[in-house]
Amino acid sequence: MAATMLAERFYTATRQIRLEEVPIPQPGPGQVVIKVAFCGICQSDLSLISGHFPSSLDVVTQGHEASGTIVEVGPGVIGWAEGDRVIPSAGRPCGMCRACRRGAFTDCYDLQLMAFAYDGAWAEYHVAQALGLTRIPDGVDMAQAALLADAVSTPFAAVVRTAQVHVGNAVGVWGVGGVGTHLVQLAHLAGAVPIIAVDINDAALERAKSRGADFTFRSDDPDLGHKIVEATGGRMIDVAFDAVGIPQTIRQCIEYLDTNGKAVSVGLSEQEINAGPFLDFNLKRKQLRGHLGYKSQDIAVLAEMLSYGRLDLSGSISQIVPLSKVTDGIEALVSKRGNPIRILVQP
Ligand SMILES: [Zn+2]
Ligand SMILES: [Zn+2]
Repeated sequence: MAATMLAERFYTATRQIRLEEVPIPQPGPGQVVIKVAFCGICQSDLSLISGHFPSSLDVVTQGHEASGTIVEVGPGVIGWAEGDRVIPSAGRPCGMCRACRRGAFTDCYDLQLMAFAYDGAWAEYHVAQALGLTRIPDGVDMAQAALLADAVSTPFAAVVRTAQVHVGNAVGVWGVGGVGTHLVQLAHLAGAVPIIAVDINDAALERAKSRGADFTFRSDDPDLGHKIVEATGGRMIDVAFDAVGIPQTIRQCIEYLDTNGKAVSVGLSEQEINAGPFLDFNLKRKQLRGHLGYKSQDIAVLAEMLSYGRLDLSGSISQIVPLSKVTDGIEALVSKRGNPIRILVQP
């Protein structure tokens, strides 16, 4: 192993990104060193750069959606060996709080986020906790595997856990960018029918059709309500996902719900939720749920789906950039050039 490696470094004070040679990290107790195969560029990485997400470190290596191969195992690690292909968890639970003591690591009160509270994987090597690693099944492509650590697992958990989509549910997805496209694909896998995609971008709507949307409507269509009535045979929507996170979209999600329907907010913003009149909301016993994140076992389920060919994410990799060109990838995502779903960094 060489003594140094190439890594992206984000400097908080100046908001500058630099590519630097840094020492290859050593594994502490319970940790492994992973040679990074791929690591995605996520909206939350951009939020750290723009200052919309607070930073807890003066300088940090970004990137939290990685796949790779274990090259070194630290003291006390059992069940993992050099050569194992893995997806690291994007967070480190404290192991000491009330939630952790009960084994509910996802609910840790002091969860440290990868690439925010400790160095991420836009680097040749990454140190990860053995706890929370997911094994990548044989035959599963490393690039698709990198998508599972957040880009696909967050919408998966929204569909399966927060919304509990059932076979035959009418599902609407507002905003079919990266997250929304996967919401459509996973709702289709869960047996939703019909699936209605709503957006203002015609190219994104066309793509949603290829992932399983039965109907695609523009959110600025004055006839949207009638079209949803027609598409659902008058029963309206059982589960409406808002992947945008603005008052207009969550309002439409709630407005077009069937009785007992659920609106699930997935897109994040600082704006206020507008749920419409109490009368309509309560008469129809509507529900509004907030969604965030996923559990480690969701990544394992998705990895298994990939290995059995139930899920194909090849169409979700819009571009692969070498680590030396990470800023090109960031720029492409910021400008939304070509409607990217996921851009991957390859060290
Ligand atoms: Zn992410
Ligand atoms: Zn904890």
